[in-house]
Amino acid sequence: PHGTLTVCITGGAGQISYSLLPLIASGEVFGHEQPIELRLLDIKPALEALNGVVMELHDCSFPLLRGIVATDDPMVAFRHADVAVLAGSFPRRPGMERRELLAKNVNIFKAHGHALDQVASKNVKIVVVGNPSNTNALVLSHFAPSIPKGNITALTRLDHNRTVSQVALRTGVSVNDVDGVAIWGNHSATQYPDMTRATAKGELAMPMLGGRKVVAEEIIPCIQKRGAAVLKARGFSSAMSAANAIGDHLRSWLMGDSKIVSMAVASDGSYHVKAGVYFSFPVRCVGGGEYEIVQGIELGEFSRKYVSATTEELFAEREEALSLL
Ligand code: NDP
Repeated sequence: PHGTLTVCITGGAGQISYSLLPLIASGEVFGHEQPIELRLLDIKPALEALNGVVMELHDCSFPLLRGIVATDDPMVAFRHADVAVLAGSFPRRPGMERRELLAKNVNIFKAHGHALDQVASKNVKIVVVGNPSNTNALVLSHFAPSIPKGNITALTRLDHNRTVSQVALRTGVSVNDVDGVAIWGNHSATQYPDMTRATAKGELAMPMLGGRKVVAEEIIPCIQKRGAAVLKARGFSSAMSAANAIGDHLRSWLMGDSKIVSMAVASDGSYHVKAGVYFSFPVRCVGGGEYEIVQGIELGEFSRKYVSATTEELFAEREEALSLL
């Protein structure tokens, strides 16, 4: 018998939340026998919209949904939370300086870190989605010292899924037949979608993809700029695929995954990335919220230059965020 799982989503009235809620409440993420209590957090001006979302959740009549709390108080939203999806963050406005954006978000993740530290389950599993997500995760962990750093992650699964899909489309196999891709570093334009060890139906994909030149000049930029391409085409951001990736991230992390996936996790010196940032690595999820960074990958010269660039960017973001605390 399963106890009820308390799942908190911040930015509850936002686009990502709107696509994520049916996945969670229907049992697609935590299993079809896992009862769920939802906590939806948003800011005061969004509470009316949030109320509309609550009405729709009731109208879906999800059998697993045991309760819904909608609030603008983090202390209420995070109380005894088992899982927290942090999608509420300050959006980049035209003409806004990077530092200004970071400052706004430092304050949000400071407040949310404090609240999680005080009222969430000590075993809470947190995924940060709001950008700059890796650095927001770092700020959060700084202000939530009682939550193990390993319980805090940031989302790079959408980048991972995009890479799997590009390899599948370009080699003519199904996504199930693709393995061995990884996202390294920051969830930003410097992320490194690594296809050097990718396989399609067990065969090395690089030659089928057209070799290093095509990968470097075409495929990597396609993945790095995919969010902007969707935004341009649709006029709205890629909320559906982001929500789907959050579902995948949580399912792999909590239930385990036979494939290696990508998550931004606290760096521990693996691959010369010093401790102190949240960095996307290939990870093996063994279930029950346990994971390990895959060790022993030989990063060739081609990969190393991308990994150093994204590492440098993350440490620079870290300095900037720390100077704002
Ligand atoms: P979305 O729900 O579309 O996105 C939420 C966050 O996820 C954004 O920071 C966005 O970053 C990030 N994100 C990460 N990956 C992706 C992706 N692939 N596609 C799209 N977004 C991605 O934003 P909305 O504006 O619809 O909703 C935001 C919610 O947050 C609102 O409900 C708002 O009220 C709330 N909010 C809360 C604040 C607070 O807690 N103090 C402050 C401001 C807003 P990016 O912007 O870079 O796309």
